[in-house]
Amino acid sequence: MNCIICKKKKIKKIINFGNFPVSHKFKKKNQKDKKYSLQIGICKECKLIQLSKLFPVNELKPKYDWINYNEPEEHLNKLVKKISTLKNINKNSIIAGVSYKEISLINRFKKIGFVNNWILDMKKDLNIKDKKSNLETIQDKISNINIKKITNRKKKADVLIVRHILEHSYNTVNFIKSLKKLINNNGYLIFEVPDCKDPLITRDYPAIWEEHLMYFTQNTLKALLEKQGLKIIYFEKYKYPYEDVLIFITKISDYKYLNYKKNLLLPKVNFNLTSLKKDRNFIRNKIKIYREKKYTICLFGTGHAACTYLNILKLHDLIDLVVDDDNNKKNLLLPNSNLKINNSSNLKNLEKILVILGVNSESEKKIINKLNIIKKKIKFYSIYNRSKFSFK
Ligand SMILES: [Zn+2]
Repeated sequence: MNCIICKKKKIKKIINFGNFPVSHKFKKKNQKDKKYSLQIGICKECKLIQLSKLFPVNELKPKYDWINYNEPEEHLNKLVKKISTLKNINKNSIIAGVSYKEISLINRFKKIGFVNNWILDMKKDLNIKDKKSNLETIQDKISNINIKKITNRKKKADVLIVRHILEHSYNTVNFIKSLKKLINNNGYLIFEVPDCKDPLITRDYPAIWEEHLMYFTQNTLKALLEKQGLKIIYFEKYKYPYEDVLIFITKISDYKYLNYKKNLLLPKVNFNLTSLKKDRNFIRNKIKIYREKKYTICLFGTGHAACTYLNILKLHDLIDLVVDDDNNKKNLLLPNSNLKINNSSNLKNLEKILVILGVNSESEKKIINKLNIIKKKIKFYSIYNRSKFSFK
């Protein structure tokens, strides 16, 4: 495959994790999984870690209209403060977002008196008719945007916020080109993506996701943005318990960044087959100890991170019970398995439980508090390396 950014055939393979279905393809009994190869590589030109084989974009479209993605929000008030003090920005400025992921941020601006704002409308602006469509379709429509159609209805933005979608884009160069057309010449384009520096070094398997085509670090994202004619005005990394976020505030610039390749460092990556085998044995052996002591092995949470963790580490055969309190998922089967999803009330009848926490840090706290009340013999592990319950 060619590099997503430079289109050159310079991808060096890092690891092939195996063939898996899309993480949100929950299924009914007797339904088969459609599997695709999940593998990452690095472009020798851009130094960007990326999927070296892409899942077909149509396959990423959810089967259900209740599939949703949550992003961390604790830093948003700070970000609002930063944006509102940018040069030339005042309460009459037009603050805009590209998808539902910006609703919460735009609402914060409204609260402090920024009256002009918009978010791209999936139906009216992007011509997306199917309600089940999500980021996979939004990114595609933005990359092929009909700018006239939008500027007939909306004024160009002074600030356009783009949270957690850049790393989903199949044609990233066109995606950024479209975004540049949606802002005034003097406007700001603001990107937020997960920081993959740590996960790549510590082999945090939940960070790998078929919908994340690119695994940015501060350096590789900066290089990409500058190469696309954007000048970096401000950068910040917000620390989160399990996955940090990178924020770049940029402006359109004519400056040509010819030397960007020279000072671009190779990101450190410790994913490889030998370590995967080691990790797999290590984790499987830990679970087996509890199985022998007659613990029920329970996976709590069935988002993409938990699915990927089970898939890559091949743990399905050790799981007795899958729990998720999203009622939409009740009685559906976890992708790539025949494990039925249950409500957490099923845990009450068990004597000894090993809970594998497949959720983010906020939900992790809630689940532990909830389960500790039932006062059974409970042991916790988390799929995330940075959790205090980590297997490692
Ligand atoms: Zn490249």
